[in-house]
Amino acid sequence: MFASMNGYVTETCNPTVGPVQEARPHMERAVDCPGDKEHDTGGGFNKPLSCGAQMERIQHYQEELRKKREEEGRAKHDIDPNASLRLKKLAQNPSYPTKVGIDNPTFDGKEKTKDAQQDPVAELEDLLQALQSVQRCLLDAQSQQDAELVLQLLNREDFQSAYAVHNAVSQQMSRGAGPGSPLTAQAQDLCQEVQSILQSSQQKDGLELKALLTKPHLQALIQAHDNVAVQEKETDAAESVNQYQGETVKLVRLEKTRDTPLGATVRNDVDSVVVSRVVKGGVAERSGLLSEGDEILEINGIPVRGKHVNDVHDLLQQMHGTLTFVLIPSSQTKAPPHRQTVMHVRAYFDYDPSDDPFVPCRELGLSFQKGDILHVISQDDPSWWQAYRDGDEDNQPLAGLIPGKSFQQQRETLKNTLTDRSREQQGKLWQVKKNKKHKKRTSYSFNRNMDDDILTYEEMALYHQPANRKRPIALIGPPNGGQDDLRRRLLSIEPEKFAGAVPHTTRNPRIHERNSRDYHFVSRSAFETDLAAGKFIESGDYEKNLYGTSTDSVRHVVNSGRICLLCLHTESLRVLRSSNLKPYVIFIAPPSQERLRTLLAQEGKTPKPEELKDVIEKAREMEQNFGHLFDGAIVNMDPDTAFHDLRRLIEKLDTEPQWVPTSWLC
Ligand code: 5GP
Repeated sequence: MFASMNGYVTETCNPTVGPVQEARPHMERAVDCPGDKEHDTGGGFNKPLSCGAQMERIQHYQEELRKKREEEGRAKHDIDPNASLRLKKLAQNPSYPTKVGIDNPTFDGKEKTKDAQQDPVAELEDLLQALQSVQRCLLDAQSQQDAELVLQLLNREDFQSAYAVHNAVSQQMSRGAGPGSPLTAQAQDLCQEVQSILQSSQQKDGLELKALLTKPHLQALIQAHDNVAVQEKETDAAESVNQYQGETVKLVRLEKTRDTPLGATVRNDVDSVVVSRVVKGGVAERSGLLSEGDEILEINGIPVRGKHVNDVHDLLQQMHGTLTFVLIPSSQTKAPPHRQTVMHVRAYFDYDPSDDPFVPCRELGLSFQKGDILHVISQDDPSWWQAYRDGDEDNQPLAGLIPGKSFQQQRETLKNTLTDRSREQQGKLWQVKKNKKHKKRTSYSFNRNMDDDILTYEEMALYHQPANRKRPIALIGPPNGGQDDLRRRLLSIEPEKFAGAVPHTTRNPRIHERNSRDYHFVSRSAFETDLAAGKFIESGDYEKNLYGTSTDSVRHVVNSGRICLLCLHTESLRVLRSSNLKPYVIFIAPPSQERLRTLLAQEGKTPKPEELKDVIEKAREMEQNFGHLFDGAIVNMDPDTAFHDLRRLIEKLDTEPQWVPTSWLC
């Protein structure tokens, strides 16, 4: 029946050339739902359990025990003349109620069960009435007294509670062959959970329950319950496995908990349900018992073949505790993992899985923003890596899916090509309109460098700056954002710690100026040669003279053991980062327009509203276009707080390692 299931197709929903495939939302479904604590019940779940022989032995032993008790019971009646006499009298009395099991002279455990099954809800009232009528028929004082004692017993509150329990159990037993499958094999854990919930309870019932749960015999009983439950579940599972005789099936039991999800996805392969992906950090991955390509036949005895993955997802959402999977193991030999070591990357794009029609399993998609550090822990599927966001790994048990680098590059390329085509179309239309209007040909061109690399991720590593080679600090911000003042303040307060790079200029030195202290005074041709050689981080002209800051000037400060402070334009970041100076870039963001107006007024400046707007708009643009290159950011709400924050950020470079591109460390 399952022979045809052995030929598996490889997962086709994640081809490396993703963009060309059509969008197939929810191709995989996560089968994880948070539960209690992770609890891997250990080895042996992948072995088919053979308990038949053991069960037979137990049944045989129980039968022997029953016979023995029956004989003992008879012997007891035989040697109790009083009991025998009274019972004989009762039996002779026509009003003797025969339906109640406990009055049956041949009573034993088994028959009592049988009687209880015939009338499982024998009411206590009936019993009392029956006994009272029996009492009325009794003539001798001894029998009267005995009946009175029984009546007193029946009227006792604890007896009545026990009787109610008895009836409930009898009813349950009468419904089926036994008390039914145990709901959990973790009753001990549940008890502990209840105890911890009741810890602070002062209510009467709470206190009583707490006292009850801590009693040693109740704890022993619950422990026994769990042991039996484990055995029962194994028996059920073994029975299940027998149904698939002839097939190599594997039995896997996993504990679905609140804190640690299973971490697997399933896909439909014709009418079968196949494990598509095992996600790092989930119970499935940690146990090593579920593999990609395994076909799921049953979950807790429920057949899943023919079910849609969405239904499997819904089914698993309702299941808690121990999950028993019957699987046909994947026939494919496992490919060696693509890369097992963790790779740390900085994202250069925003990603929202809810907006991505290609993500194979939306529930497992990991959203991130440009500049976020991601820890990529699996690249087994080159199209969909598994990763954690930096800082999330402790409170996020499961890794999330993010687009792989080449996959993302390919679809970005495709997107750009489509955008270009549509622009070209628009251009043509525009051209036609223009031509019609002006009756002359106009060319249309895009100002975009097609050779530009599509930035997706950059590999990063932690770097702790050495005490004698401090990283230069580059302050970035819109004009009037306050970064120049912050730099000046740091330079003047701690000149032994901070220094500026000596700039180059083509102008002549002034009377008090010294070469290499105030400026490197150079000829225009020397400046232009250095500029062409890419030696300047930034340069510009002012009043017919050239000015610029060279990487060598910055290096000179670094070599002196001081921190080089720079205020740069965003355009300079590319050159600075491609030097081996390992700069630390801090964005000084302006506050609100109103606050900015107040701050500038304190400096005696009176900017127009549109100028203030411009500062804020420039900052927004900077963040949008270069935000991924910022290592830190400070909102300049007030000069003192910003100064304090800036110093703290700079001090952190001495105390904590920072993420830098791995290319900087080669
Ligand atoms: P001065 O010739 O009066 O020393 O400076 C003229 C202007 O050039 C000043 O506003 C000064 O801040 C600016 N300047 C001096 N060196 C550099 C430099 O290396 N880069 C940039 N962008 N401006 C500079």
